[in-house]
Amino acid sequence: MASHPAAPVSLPRLDSPLAASVVDSDGRYDGIVPDESWAAEVKRLARERNAVILAHNYQLPEIQDIADYTGDSLGLSRIAAETDADVIIFCGVHFMAETAKILSPEKTVLIPDERAGCSLADSITAEELKEWKSEHPGAVVVSYVNTTADVKAETDICCTSSNAVDVVASIPEDQEILFNPDQFLGAHVRRKTGRANVRVWAGECHVHANINGDELARRAAEDENAELFIHPECGCANSAIYLAGEGTIEPERVHMLSTGEMLTAARKVEESKPSSKVLVATEVGMLHQLRKAAPDVAFEPVNDRASCSYMKLITPAALLRCLIEGSDEVTVDPDVAARARASVERMIAIGNPGGGE
Ligand code: SF4
Repeated sequence: MASHPAAPVSLPRLDSPLAASVVDSDGRYDGIVPDESWAAEVKRLARERNAVILAHNYQLPEIQDIADYTGDSLGLSRIAAETDADVIIFCGVHFMAETAKILSPEKTVLIPDERAGCSLADSITAEELKEWKSEHPGAVVVSYVNTTADVKAETDICCTSSNAVDVVASIPEDQEILFNPDQFLGAHVRRKTGRANVRVWAGECHVHANINGDELARRAAEDENAELFIHPECGCANSAIYLAGEGTIEPERVHMLSTGEMLTAARKVEESKPSSKVLVATEVGMLHQLRKAAPDVAFEPVNDRASCSYMKLITPAALLRCLIEGSDEVTVDPDVAARARASVERMIAIGNPGGGE
C-alpha cells in the first residue's frame, strides 16, 4: 500500500489586496462584505492555488454560491477524489473535510475554520466505540458518515441516511449490530428493517433534535396541503411516522429524505405541483438549494431556528483567510485513514450511498 503524508503540507501565503479578516464577538472570522470584489478575489486565489471549493448544503448562501460544487458530505468527498485540483477547500464541518482527506490522501485538504465541529460526530469517540464493541463481541459496527476518522477506523461499514436501511439489511439476520451515533436515524432503521438485534447509540445532533414532533404537528396542521420533507436525523422523524400512522398527517404528505433526495423530490414537486408549499425539517441552509432547484415552490422551514452554528463558522472572511494563508489544513493519520477508507468503501460496494446529510 502506498504511504501517504499525514504531516501538514506548509502552503505559502499568497498576496491579496483584501484584508484577511477580523474576529467578531462570537469568535467568527468577520469584516468582509461578500460583494463582487470578494467573489473575484476568491476565484483568483483559488486559481492560483489550483484549488477546488466545495460547499455543503448547510453553508451560508454566499458560500454555496461561490463554490465550484455544492452538495452533501459524501457526494462532495467523491467529487474531491475525482478532481485534478491540488488543494480541496471544504466549506463544511471538520468530519466532512476528514472524509475528503480519507478518500483523497494525496491532496491537501483545507477547511476555512478548523473549529467547525459537529455535535453529532462528537456524540461518540473511538474509545467509547471500542468499549461498546468489547461489550458485544462479534457484533457488526455500522456508523453514520457523520463520525470522526477515528470512529470510522473502528467501524465495519459506514452508512448514509439514504442507504442506512440497505446497509443494515445486507448484514445476516442473526448478527447483532451496533448502530451509531444518531439515535433518530437508528430508530428509523430499526423500524424499517423490523430487526430487534440493532443496538442504537444515544447520540444526536442538537440542531436536528430541536426540530420536534409538536412543532411538526402544528406546522402540518397550519398548512394542510403542504408536503413534508423530513431528514431522518430529525427529532421529528419518529413523530412524523407516528402522526402519519394514526392519521393526524396523511401518510402521502410525509417524505423521509436525505439532503440529496430532497433536491430530486423538489424538482418533481416543481413539475407536478408548481406553486405548492413544502415544509422542510432539516438545517435551514438547505432551503437555499431547494429554492434554486424549484423556484416556483414555496419552501418553508418547520423550525426557522434550526441553524448549525458550526456550519456558519465558515464565513466569507474565513474563506478568504483560508485562501490567503493556506490554512486550516486537515490531516488524518495514514493508518487511521486506511482503516476508515475501508469502512466507507464497504458501504459504497453495497450501493445507493446517496449523500447522507
Ligand atoms: S447540523 Fe448537526 S449533524 Fe449537521 S454538522 Fe451541524 S451539528 Fe453536525
